[in-house]
Amino acid sequence: MTVHTGRHFLQIPGPTNVPDRVLRAMDMPTMDHRGAEFAEIGFAVMSAMQRVFRTKQPVIIYPSSGTGAWEAAIVNTLQPGDKVLMCETGQFAVLWHGIADKFKLDVDFIPGDWRHGADLEQIEARLAADKAHKIKAVCMVHNETSTACVTYPLNVRKILDTLKHPALLMVDTISGLGSLEYEHDAWGIDVSIAGSQKGLMLPPGLGFNAVSEKALAVAKANPGMRSYWDWQEVININKAGTWPYTPATNLLFGLREAVKMLEEEGLENVFARHKRHSEATRAAIKVWGLETQCQEQGAHSPALTAVRVPDGHDADHFRKVVLDNFDMSLGTGLNKVKGKVFRIGHIGHFNDLMLMGTLSGVEMGLDLAKVPHRGGGVLAAMDILKGRDPSQASKV
Ligand code: PLP
Repeated sequence: MTVHTGRHFLQIPGPTNVPDRVLRAMDMPTMDHRGAEFAEIGFAVMSAMQRVFRTKQPVIIYPSSGTGAWEAAIVNTLQPGDKVLMCETGQFAVLWHGIADKFKLDVDFIPGDWRHGADLEQIEARLAADKAHKIKAVCMVHNETSTACVTYPLNVRKILDTLKHPALLMVDTISGLGSLEYEHDAWGIDVSIAGSQKGLMLPPGLGFNAVSEKALAVAKANPGMRSYWDWQEVININKAGTWPYTPATNLLFGLREAVKMLEEEGLENVFARHKRHSEATRAAIKVWGLETQCQEQGAHSPALTAVRVPDGHDADHFRKVVLDNFDMSLGTGLNKVKGKVFRIGHIGHFNDLMLMGTLSGVEMGLDLAKVPHRGGGVLAAMDILKGRDPSQASKV
C-alpha cells in the first residue's frame, strides 16, 4: 500500500492535477439532464468552450476520451478510401494513424524522427504534387505529448492557402488546448480535437470537436456510417441545452468551473505561465547535462518536457526511484522511446513552487538512480523563476 504523507506529485502530462475548486464544483447531486437547470449548464459550457477554442462555430462535447474525439473527426468527414496526409511526430500521431487505418483511409504518413515537429517541407511537397486534390484532409498533432515537440497549425494553414488546396485541416490539440495559444477560427482550422484531462484541468472523460463551417458541410455530404459521433445530431439537440444521450453531467459542472478559472487568470497569462515553466525546466536540464527529446529550436512544448537519459540507463528505473522515494509520478517514454525518455508534465493547474518541488524530485532522483549528471539544475530553474538569467547568477 502506498502511504502519502502529503500531496502526491502528479507530474505526468495528463491526466493533470485537478484544482480543488473544480473538484468541489463536481461534488454535486446528479441532476436531470433534460431539465431547465441542466440546460443552463449545457449552454454555459458550450459557449465557454467556444471561448477556449476561440471560435464562433459549434463545439461538440462528447462523454469520451480524446481517442473518441479523434474517431469523431474521422467518421464525420471521411469515408473508406479517402486519402489523408498525416505526419509521424510521435506516438500520438502513430495512434491516430492506426484509427485512420481501421476506417480504411488511404494514409500518406510522412516519416519523422520523433525529435521535431511535423515536416512542413514534406507537407508542402505532398500537397503541391496533389494537383487532382485527392488529399481530403491534413491531420496533425499540435502538441505531441510523447516527444514534447510542437507543430504550429497556422504554418500548415498557410501552406494549404498558398497552394489553394481544399483539404480539411484537422488538428489534435488534446494536450495543447488551455496550455498553448490556440485559435480555431483565426488559424482556419476545420476540426480541432481536444480532451478534458490536460490543460483543462479536469479528470479524463470529455472529448471535444470544434468544427468549421466547411467541415460541417463536408460532414453533411458524407454518407459514411456513424451514429454516436454524428456532429449534426449533437448540434441539433444542443439547441435545447442538452445532448442526444446522457452527458457526463458532473464533468460538465467541473468544466464550467475550470474555464472560469482559466478566464480569471486570463488565457494569455495561462499560456505565458506554461512557457515560463517550460523554460525553467529546460534551464535545469541544461545544467544537469541531459538532452531534451525535442531538438527543434522554437518547437519546445510549454506543457511538458521529455528528457533523454544517457545510453545504458533506464528512464523507467529512474521514474521508479523517484516514485518510491519522493511520491512523484513522471511520464513514461512511449513506444520507441520507452526506457530512453521520461516526461515532466508542467501542464494545467501548476505554479512556481510546484515546479521547484518537481525539479527537486528529479534532481534527487538522478542522484539516487546514479544517472550521470551535474548538480545545480534546480538553482538554474530558480533563477528563471526569479526572472534572472542563470548564466549571470554566479556574478550576483
Ligand atoms: N492525442 C494526444 C496528443 C494525447 O496526448 C493523447 C493522450 O495523452 C491522446 C491523443 C489520446 O487521448 P485519450 O488518452 O484521452 O484517449
